[in-house]
Amino acid sequence: MTVKQGGGDTVVYRAASVITMNPSRPVATHVAVRDGRILAVGSEEHVSGWGTVRHDDRYADKVLMPGLVEAHCHLYEGVVWQYVYVGYYDRRGPDGRLWQGLKTVDEVVQRLVDARSRLASDKPLIAWGFDPIYFGSRRLTVHDLDRVPGDAAVVVMHASIHLMNVNSRALALAGIHRDTDIDGITRFPDGEPTGELCEFAAMFPVVRLIGNPFRSLSQTPQCVADFAKIAVGAGVTTATDMINELDDDGIRSLAGITRADDFPLRIVPAASGMLFGRNVAACLEKLQQLGHESHAKMRLGMVKLIVDGSIQGFTARLRWPGYYNGAANGIWVIAPDDLSVIIEQYHRAGVQLHIHTNGDEATEVTLDALERALTQWPRPDHRHTLQHCQMASPAQFRRIARLGLCVNLFANHLFYWGDAHHAMTLGPERAHRMNGCATAQRLGIPFAIHSDAPITPLAPLFTAWCAVNRRTAAGRVLGEAERIGVAEALRAITLGAAYTLHQDDCIGSIEVGKHADFCILDSDPLQTAPEGLKDIGVAGTMVGGRPFDAPHGRR
Ligand SMILES: [Zn+2]
Repeated sequence: MTVKQGGGDTVVYRAASVITMNPSRPVATHVAVRDGRILAVGSEEHVSGWGTVRHDDRYADKVLMPGLVEAHCHLYEGVVWQYVYVGYYDRRGPDGRLWQGLKTVDEVVQRLVDARSRLASDKPLIAWGFDPIYFGSRRLTVHDLDRVPGDAAVVVMHASIHLMNVNSRALALAGIHRDTDIDGITRFPDGEPTGELCEFAAMFPVVRLIGNPFRSLSQTPQCVADFAKIAVGAGVTTATDMINELDDDGIRSLAGITRADDFPLRIVPAASGMLFGRNVAACLEKLQQLGHESHAKMRLGMVKLIVDGSIQGFTARLRWPGYYNGAANGIWVIAPDDLSVIIEQYHRAGVQLHIHTNGDEATEVTLDALERALTQWPRPDHRHTLQHCQMASPAQFRRIARLGLCVNLFANHLFYWGDAHHAMTLGPERAHRMNGCATAQRLGIPFAIHSDAPITPLAPLFTAWCAVNRRTAAGRVLGEAERIGVAEALRAITLGAAYTLHQDDCIGSIEVGKHADFCILDSDPLQTAPEGLKDIGVAGTMVGGRPFDAPHGRR
């Protein structure tokens, strides 16, 4: 008998417990795997009737879950580690290195100065993860970044990716000056740009200058491998690339890398509807052309739209009464009139849409557009999904339920920005209802929760911890009534997320016929106190029946 996977060999894995996410058999002890798929789940007796089997006890003291599904993250997570991390919280890279969080602007500048000295003098210095919200009213400006020596551009991406700060040299090279008339250029009282650029139109001249590393590198073998390493360490077996520009070579490269048997991840790119604007036909044609590149570990088809900005960047669109600290309302990334036209066309073409709406005004305008499209062109099981949808009111959630939409809520925000939302951006009441998982659940709305990595770290068990405990970094519980149970949170990072990707028929639970994708845990989340959820060790994953160990240093 051969022991090669895929050759008809059947392997029975025994585990301390198997959490299946299949309500008709929620827990088991054994799983049989054949040809990369789940052949049977149950007791040893239940799974052993399929002819000759080989027993494998490597997981005998582990807990098996369905492979975790991160339904909103970006391949950029594999790119950012090429650059300098300047975020507030400690963060671990794919190589296991822990980057210390920076607690003052001076520390940020110092890290940039250090990095500059290690870089060729003509190369732009690129950093990421910065967030001024942790520094009160102190904003980063050209005066800070001009302290970095040299004559090259310095570009600091904010954690949200919706804003950046640059030095004077970068402003000059990009041709941004006091007379530049683009929305989103922050200015000193005298009219000179401060170097803070908000949203894509204002950032574009700089992005062009540095050659858009996110687009050009995210599908290279090195960056995809780094992304996969991070995913395996987090127990993730399926991850999205939630805005992909459908570059021909990039998609071919990604299709090739992911097809390899020893590549440990399924990747689901969502086409950037943003790149095509109102020219929906061009996006559809591109999807059609590249469609044959799709396979079981890289599936094209979804389209992503972005309606507004970020709440902590004050670029999200809010309804009355607006920002708690009096900041002006945010920026439409797609104008409402365009949105309606664009949504209708994708919807009519049968595409599944993932629509970024952070503020409740953006959510409202999107619901209006979707309702119009769905009324005129009814379509069963469309699964259009509102991404983030952080501020939705109870009435908006009821409307979401009525329209048959899904939501993917940004639970990690509760920890990372919850205190800022409470004190500065939204005020207590709206902060308490943010990312309302319990409301979604009560209304029967299919929902997932996400990290938006690299915005926050890719780690679904941490995301589940956020939804269950709703604890902020300062320790406040933000909206007790919106907490959900551990079992519901685990569903949101497996079958719930798979549902929003229209892949619940092949991933997201441990059931006969599905891909043999597992997340292997050191202990049982259902037997762990809810506060301990984020600390459960991930030993590795299995993808299509092939085991992968979590990389060293990430456990
Ligand atoms: Zn995103």
